[in-house]
Amino acid sequence: MDITLQQVSYAYAKNTPFEKRALYDVDLHIPSGSYQAIIGHTGSGKSTILQHLNALLKPSEGSIQIGDVEIKADKKNKQLRKVRQKVGIVFQFPEHQLFDETVLKDIMFGPMNFGVSEEEAKHRAIELVKLLGLPDEVMEKSPFDLSGGQMRRVAIAGVLAMNPEVLVLDEPTAGLDPRGRKEIMDLFYKLHKEKSLTTVLVTHSMEDAARYADRIAIMHNGKCVLEDTPQAVFRNEERLTDYRLEVPQSVKFQKKMEQMIGKSFPTICLTEES
Ligand code: ADP
Repeated sequence: MDITLQQVSYAYAKNTPFEKRALYDVDLHIPSGSYQAIIGHTGSGKSTILQHLNALLKPSEGSIQIGDVEIKADKKNKQLRKVRQKVGIVFQFPEHQLFDETVLKDIMFGPMNFGVSEEEAKHRAIELVKLLGLPDEVMEKSPFDLSGGQMRRVAIAGVLAMNPEVLVLDEPTAGLDPRGRKEIMDLFYKLHKEKSLTTVLVTHSMEDAARYADRIAIMHNGKCVLEDTPQAVFRNEERLTDYRLEVPQSVKFQKKMEQMIGKSFPTICLTEES
């Protein structure tokens, strides 16, 4: 399922004294089956875009096409439920949204709420618990009795249980240790490859964007200022600093960049301060 943003602008609290423009004329095409990273410093508009991808927010101006559904400010839309089913979002710290008595019930909740039979929802939950490397015995436990890393996996299983066509990941490894980070990012990549799952990763990690994505979009002050392959983006060293993407050190990443773009390139990460 393709997603296309055309000249999308968005203002929070529109037409009030608190109006705050967060996006300006964003064009972005995310083809079906691709892996798109969206990077940018804090406040650059990443979360605002992300919420447009499954119609939690509607553009103030411009339009967004999600599969065969077009979303526009002035257009009433009866298909938002369909969009939300097809575009799954793993929000930051998704474990904060766990709520049910048992892991099994929690994972089954989404699909059953969307009309999937109990048998099928249970089947999906069992498969996903395996896929996410959780032991079988967690199924009947309360999600709140699990470790932080396990809770994160259960929450991810809950999103995947909807069988989304597009998976949107908002800093999915925030707060995890390096091993947990890599395991989860590798798992998302495997899903992307094996199921041609269209994946959108919102991240501060240039390393993750470089390692996993086919395309990288850079957000800066509410605008999409650069959208290209990782190779082309990292060749644009000077422009990256203009967008407050900083350049510290990591030998491993530098080597990877050298392989990718055929010249020495320092490690990049994003500055947190706006
Ligand atoms: P990022 O995800 O890149 O940190 P956001 O999309 O959260 O950026 O924010 C973009 C801009 O919109 C920022 O200036 C931010 O302060 C503002 N903003 C975000 N959420 C709200 C909100 N609920 N109300 C008003 N302004 C907001």
